[in-house]
Amino acid sequence: MTTSVAILGSTGSIGTQALEVVRAEPGRYRVAALGAASSVELLVAQAVEHRPAVVAIADASRAAELQALAPAGTEVLAGPDALAAAAVEAEVVLNAVVGFAGLSVTLAALSGGRRLALANKESLIAGGPVVQRVRSTPGAEIVPVDSEHCALHQCLRAGRDNEVVRLVLTASGGPFRGRSPAELAGVTVDDALDHPTWRMGPKITVDSSTMMNKGLEVIEAHELFGIDYDRIDVVVHPQSVIHSMVEFSDGATIAQLSLPDMRLPIGYALAWPERCARAFGAIDWAELGRLDFEPPDPAAFPCLELAREAGRAGGSAPAWANAANEVAVAAFLEGRIGWSSIAEVLKQSMSEHDGIEMDNAEAVVDVDRRGRELAAKIVERSTA
Ligand code: MG
Repeated sequence: MTTSVAILGSTGSIGTQALEVVRAEPGRYRVAALGAASSVELLVAQAVEHRPAVVAIADASRAAELQALAPAGTEVLAGPDALAAAAVEAEVVLNAVVGFAGLSVTLAALSGGRRLALANKESLIAGGPVVQRVRSTPGAEIVPVDSEHCALHQCLRAGRDNEVVRLVLTASGGPFRGRSPAELAGVTVDDALDHPTWRMGPKITVDSSTMMNKGLEVIEAHELFGIDYDRIDVVVHPQSVIHSMVEFSDGATIAQLSLPDMRLPIGYALAWPERCARAFGAIDWAELGRLDFEPPDPAAFPCLELAREAGRAGGSAPAWANAANEVAVAAFLEGRIGWSSIAEVLKQSMSEHDGIEMDNAEAVVDVDRRGRELAAKIVERSTA
């Protein structure tokens, strides 16, 4: 049977790899919708190859260009709501939008009763309280694409909910593993983007270098699986072969292992509850050699604990932390602040957070906006 898929964020790292997964099993999937923030040229090339019913572009200023180049018979949607509107075109929605902008796609997919293959962790982290409400829509289901959470999803199949003792998220440690705070003071954008094991977009690669990515993933695991923060641990595992583990009540730990290749979790989420018939990242044990583990260093990578504190505070705190981090990472990538200042901006932002109830999407958007405004001020102060 053919499964229809909507791939939103199709021109980014996850989106292009998702199309490789689709191509790997001809006849299994039908691409019903494709969507991107602003990359018209690649989006058109993808549309010409896959002939979706709908193509969507978030940047309304590119609408005319997309309309002119899209293949005949493909409807063009444009503007800030276009990606969310395209989501309901398919049975399975891959949300690979970058950053907070993915929230509307997550909400549209779940409230439309679709299976959501979720690569956009920010929407679940920032919009947690609101996303939880629409998860109970009949037919709605989240299958995580984030490699750690996809691993947990697989490991959890080995036991019952009441048998789970703890989740153990693995972290590669990023490009700066083992460095002291003093050694980290002068690192550059190029250094931060030089990830040892994963190829990913710039935002998440910087998050990986600060370990904020792991902090956000702790919150993501809590939101996805409903496990208390006290029972979600992080261990540094530089080879990125064990993608995460679940420890059960009898002491057994179940781990998911594969080479670092995002096509495996993407294929898992698209094919669920079946498995992808094509192997991505299968292990050659003779070549693998060894697996190492070490605890994270909280002095060198304070973002991990700052994110965990935001998760524990709950409510609007994770949204606030996510907004501050997005602003700080953008400022770092633009060369306006140093790497160590990312954690400083986050810390100062959190100290000025005023918790509010978030019971609808507008409230989440409002918290995000205010969190960004404050973080931008903190960035300006630090560069003045
Ligand atoms: Mg991850």
